[in-house]
Amino acid sequence: MLIVEPPTALAGSRGLSDIGTVRAQAARIGPNTIIQLAHVLRDRYGDFMASTLLFESTGYAMTALPGAMVDEREAQAFVRTVMRQLGERPGAAVLHEAGRRTADYLMANRIPRPAQWVMKALPARAGLSLLLKAMRANAWTFAGSGAFSVHTHARGADLTFHACAMCRDMHSDGPVCDFYAGTFEHLIRTLVAPRAEVVEVECQAQGGHCCRFEVTGIR
Ligand SMILES: [Zn+2]
Ligand SMILES: [Zn+2]
Repeated sequence: MLIVEPPTALAGSRGLSDIGTVRAQAARIGPNTIIQLAHVLRDRYGDFMASTLLFESTGYAMTALPGAMVDEREAQAFVRTVMRQLGERPGAAVLHEAGRRTADYLMANRIPRPAQWVMKALPARAGLSLLLKAMRANAWTFAGSGAFSVHTHARGADLTFHACAMCRDMHSDGPVCDFYAGTFEHLIRTLVAPRAEVVEVECQAQGGHCCRFEVTGIR
C-alpha cells in the first residue's frame, strides 16, 4: 500500500509462464499482505504453522517471501486459508495486526517524512484529507482489481472497495477485511488523530455489495 514506485512495476506477469500456467494477466497488489501476515502468524502461532499455511496457499517459503508486487490471488488464497484454519475471529485479529504492521512499514519506508510532518501538523480534518488523497493516488498498490473510493463527511470519512480484492470468494458471518482496517486505522491514528477508529460496517463476504469502512474520531 502507498508504494510510490512507478506503475511499470505492474508490467508483466512474472513467473506465470515459468510454471506453464496459461491465464489472463492477473491484477497485482503489494507484497505486504503476504509478508506481514506470515510474520504475525509466526510470532503468534510458531514457525511451523506459519510456514505450512503460507506454503499450502501460496507456494512461498518463510525464507523467500515476495519482494515485489504479487498476483492478488496469492494474497486472497493466504487470507482464506488463515480464516479457515484459525476461525473467523482469531483470523481477523491476525489480519488486523498484519495491517497495523504494514502501516508501520509504510511510514518507515514509503510515505515521505515531510508529508508525514505536514499531516501531523495540520488540523485533524485537513490532515485526514491529505492522507486520504495520498491513499487514493496509491490505491493501485493495494486495491488490485477492486475499486477504491473515498467519501469525506462531517463525522469523518467512508472508505469503500467495490469488488474488494481482500475477501474475493469468501463467505463469512462477520466482516473479514481486517487487513485494510488495521492498515488504515494505524496510519490515521499515527498521522492524523490518535483516537480515530476504522470499522468495517459492510462486507462483501457477508453479502454486502461492497466493503465499506467508517472512519470516526477525527478531532
Ligand atoms: Zn473485502
Ligand atoms: Zn470486507
